[in-house]
Amino acid sequence: MQYTFASRMENTPRSFIREILKVTQKPEIISFAGGLPNPELFPVQELAATAEKVIAEEGTAALQYATTEGHPPLRQWIADRYKKRLGIEISPNEILITNGSQQCLDLIGKIFINKGSNVAIERPGYLGAIQAFSMYEPNFSTISLTSEGPDINELERVLTRDKPCFFYGVPNSQNPSGITWSRENRKAVAETLERFSTIFVEDDAYGELKFRGKQMPSIKELIPDLTVMTGSFSKIIAPGMRMGWICAPKQILEQAVTVKQGTDLHSNILSQRIISRFLADFPVDAHISRISEAYSNQCDCMLSAIKAEFPEGVTCTRPDGGMFIWATLPEGYSSMELFERAIKQDVAILPGIPFYTDGGGLDTVRLNFSNSTPERIEEGIYRLGQVLKEYLKE
Ligand code: PMP
Repeated sequence: MQYTFASRMENTPRSFIREILKVTQKPEIISFAGGLPNPELFPVQELAATAEKVIAEEGTAALQYATTEGHPPLRQWIADRYKKRLGIEISPNEILITNGSQQCLDLIGKIFINKGSNVAIERPGYLGAIQAFSMYEPNFSTISLTSEGPDINELERVLTRDKPCFFYGVPNSQNPSGITWSRENRKAVAETLERFSTIFVEDDAYGELKFRGKQMPSIKELIPDLTVMTGSFSKIIAPGMRMGWICAPKQILEQAVTVKQGTDLHSNILSQRIISRFLADFPVDAHISRISEAYSNQCDCMLSAIKAEFPEGVTCTRPDGGMFIWATLPEGYSSMELFERAIKQDVAILPGIPFYTDGGGLDTVRLNFSNSTPERIEEGIYRLGQVLKEYLKE
């Protein structure tokens, strides 16, 4: 059967990660390829107790249609959290609850991108954002990510030349690179965007998972009227709940609400009420500290194994949070070739290629540390080190 699809489907990259994960799901494979949080840290018992209470005590409201904007106490909690964590004043009316923060990217794409518009993203950039925005057929303008954050000269050049409809970035413990933008870099990015009146889409999926270094100011604090922030409960509670939010100036939020109405009316209100009550009934700071501490140990375990096992010439980032380390092979070596060789030794890595919209990054690798025990991290990095030593000899 020959089906006729919309033209936008022609250019949509199939999820490269999904394809690779199909190969890596066998239990004997030690996989650093995925991006899953550590399931041992999901608050299963607490959520079971909370869900029971919500159904028993607010069952009819939790099962009825609800407002698009979201459950008011949950929006209030998010606003209070911004005040506590980042010192910024946000009204609950500037918050829209979404179906995971991935949905924010789709809504933002719908609001801002015309076919052929330019969108500025980091290089490498978050694959899920590249996929979400691609549905609206933009051209991507990339801005190289240095160890301090986006290259300011490139940002200035892109803003001047391409006049993008927004710049999307992940300033805290980025996916895929693990890089956190420095304080000076954030100021320079904010000052440059302000000069060009360009919107910043600040994806803060990992802001709560910081395990070393000082809290950096968010771009939202520096240029509030130009920043659309996205947040998520996936990494601090559980991704299966599919709960995230957009925090945006009123006029932008109104557009997002209109668009979300057409997409799915509202986010799952049962999940919203369970999360809201969980946040009220349990000590959430202690829970988040437990996750950050575990990720810090897993990250340090991977970094020391890399130091001991990887041959010279392979460089790695040292993340201050999040779930990923980013490795770069010496020039001319291929991460796809490394993937093929590693999988024969039952270790999976993720080639960095899909995080580039311009065909670059052939020598880059993303390593996830949050979903493996220290024993498996040590064994997997040992095997990967052996594979690398063999490959780099050639
Ligand atoms: N942004 C970034 C940078 C991510 O890494 C992820 C998850 N991998 C998301 C957004 C989407 O997360 P969720 O939809 O679960 O909130």
